[in-house]
This record gives sequence, C-alpha cells and structure tokens, in this order.
Amino acid sequence: MTNRDECVALDARDPLAALRDDFVLREGEIYLDGNSLGPVSKGTQRRVREVIDHEWGEGLIRSWNSANWMDAPIELGNRLAPLIGAREGEVLVADTLTFLLAKIIGGSLELRPDRHVVITDAVNFHSDLYIVAAMARLAGRDIIVKTIDRDTLVDYLDDDVALVMFTHVDFRTGEMLDMAGITAAVHAVGALMLWDLAHSTGAVPLDVTSANIDFAAGCGYKYLNGGPGAPGFMYVAPRWQGVLRNPLPGWLGHARPFDFEPTYESAPGMRAYVTSSPSVLALGALDGALEVFERTTMTEVRVKSLALTDLFISLVEEALPGVFDVVTPREHTLRGSQVALRHEQGYGIVQALIERGVIGDFRAPDICRFGLTPLYLRYVDVYDAVQILVDVMMSSAHLDERFIVRLAVT
Ligand SMILES: *Cc1c(COP(=O)(O)O)cnc(C)c1O
Repeated sequence: MTNRDECVALDARDPLAALRDDFVLREGEIYLDGNSLGPVSKGTQRRVREVIDHEWGEGLIRSWNSANWMDAPIELGNRLAPLIGAREGEVLVADTLTFLLAKIIGGSLELRPDRHVVITDAVNFHSDLYIVAAMARLAGRDIIVKTIDRDTLVDYLDDDVALVMFTHVDFRTGEMLDMAGITAAVHAVGALMLWDLAHSTGAVPLDVTSANIDFAAGCGYKYLNGGPGAPGFMYVAPRWQGVLRNPLPGWLGHARPFDFEPTYESAPGMRAYVTSSPSVLALGALDGALEVFERTTMTEVRVKSLALTDLFISLVEEALPGVFDVVTPREHTLRGSQVALRHEQGYGIVQALIERGVIGDFRAPDICRFGLTPLYLRYVDVYDAVQILVDVMMSSAHLDERFIVRLAVT
C-alpha cells in the first residue's frame, strides 16, 4: 500500500507541480470537483481585471474594435483548438453547451433530409436528452430519437440514421468511449457524428481531426476552469463549414452585421454559428484560464491523471475492501479523469466529506464522484482524501440525519 511519504516523494518529482501555484485554492481543503466547476486561476483573475479596468472601464464602446471583442469567440476558439486536436478556424467559443448542441443537432438534421433517426445514449446527461428530443420535435418532419444502450450501437446503425450523439466520457461512471471507432461505424452507414466533450476537454488528450468526427461541443466551466456558466465551445469539421446551417441565426452571425440587413446571410467559417453578442467578461475569464494549459501538454496531464486515479482506486480498495463498487473502468483506455464510487448512502458520504474539507459531488441515484485534476491536485491530496473517506466510513458520519434531505445542488 502506498504511504503518505511515497506520495510526498511523487509530488517532489511531479513535472506539473509548479502549475498548482496558478490556482486559488483554500488551505486545508481538497478540491475533487474540478470536473463540475474548475477553480479560479491567476490567469483568469488577471484577464478579468484587465477586461473590467481597461477594455470596458476605459475603452467602453470603442473596445468592440480596439480590444477586438467582436473576434473574441473566434480567437478563443483558436486558443482552445489544440486541446481537442482541432486546427485554427474550426472552433468557436460561445453560448453554453446545451445551446451549442441545439445548433449542431438542428443543422445536422437539415443535412440528412431523407433520414429519420437520431441515436443517443440512454444514460447521456439529461440536458443532452432534453435538447435532442426538442430539436427532433422542431425539425418539421418525422424524426425518431432512439435512446439506446450505447454498447449495442451497431444493432441500430442503418441507412435511416441521420445523426448519432454520444458523450465521450460518461459523467456518472467516468467511462471513456472509443471516439475514432464509433465515428467510423457511424460514417459507414452515412450518418453524422456529434460528440459531447463536456467531461473530456482539458481532462484527456483528444484528437477530433484524426478521429474524423463531424461535430463536437463542450463546456468551459469544468476541466477548463472558465468559471461558473462560462461559455462553451463547438467544433465543426472543415468539410461542413459553409454547409451546416445555424438553426438559431442572429445578427452577429451575419456576413455584415452592421449593415443591419433585414434578411439573413451567414458569415463564412465558424462565425456562422455565432448568434448574439459575446459575453465579454466571461470570455475573458475563460481566456485567462486557458493560459495554464499552454505551460504543459495534454499528454503530460494524462500521465498524471491516470496515476492519480489509479492511486485513488487502489487506496480505497485496500483501506475499505468491498465497501464501494468502483464503477470507473480499471482499463486506462476506458477511463476519463474521475473516479466514481457506488454506495447506497452516497449522498451522506459526499456531504460528510465536504464537512471535512474534501469536496466531491453526488450523482443520483448512488454515485460518489471525484474529479482528479492534475493541474492543481497533488498525490498527497489523494492520499489525505482517502484517509478522510476512511474516517467517515469508520465513524458512520455519513449516516447522520442531517444528510437525509438533499440540497438543491448535489
Ligand atoms: C455539464 C454538461 C452539460 C450542461 O452544459 P450547460 O453548459 O449547462 O448547458 C451538458 N451535457 C453534459 C454531458 C455535461 O456534462
């Protein structure tokens, strides 16, 4: 069993150790929820202050030109692109994830007018399920949404399938899907592939280019640390740009927004998918948050992520044998950057941990979820968190009646 001194030694030779100083973290707290809301970074503090004090504060309306606010969604997309293996001009930062999914789903259905089926994962994130059902309903023709067991996808693939939408890393279990393999199978029947990268971006290395996907969208506030409600991003393969239409057009996606023309004409490239005014402060926060990623590589992040998740799983199993069902896959190729432990009293366990300074979250009905984020977590944090978990279980602190009623946000 790995002991605390060994963890201290691992931290001492961790190539990412210095990046922890880029984050605002509270002494005595172990933050294992960066998969839900990443912490504030110094880059974000700096950029947001700059936007408020100078760009907005001094420049006022002039900053649309002088600070290039109009191009921020495109430029930030270019900054984010390497994290998903995309190239310049293929990523837009705007809106939030559910809205971006709506745009891609709505546009995709127009690209396959003779096909009637959209497939998604029955255990997909609920927002994804709601929006795909709504976009199918609004398509103006008969579209059937099939919510399936994702492992049986091949049984459903035929020439009536227009679009398949999967989330790459399962938000509950942390299981990671085979992006290239699934995309190839979907393309083999002439359907389009949309990947939700909410729990992948900034968490695992991604290569949307070599996986040959059509579309993707993801979150800015999870592993990217862009702040609560940060804008998300969307990727459109170059072959679909100028072809995929934005079903929610607005003035800032027009080819000439300041000509105030009564009829819509789409701007070229990714700008076509802009609808409204960019949220400049929020873009600033995300812009600053991406700085830290430029001081490392996702390959390096992945090495540490797997080491941290391996360590967490092995410590839990050794100290608390049989107490939890570890639902996150052991196999590295199938694992994102979180560990999910199933337990009937999961809610109380997570609440008892939070009271003791270990911040994870609970996902109904019975998952304790711990996001392990290599940019700012140390091996010793994982060690200490598991010791506190052991203490909770041994003392039955999780059974306290205070934890019977769930809070609004779990
Ligand atoms: C977090 C998350 C969402 C929610 O995104 P919003 O930006 O709040 O719309 C949707 N889908 C998945 C898979 C998520 O993890």
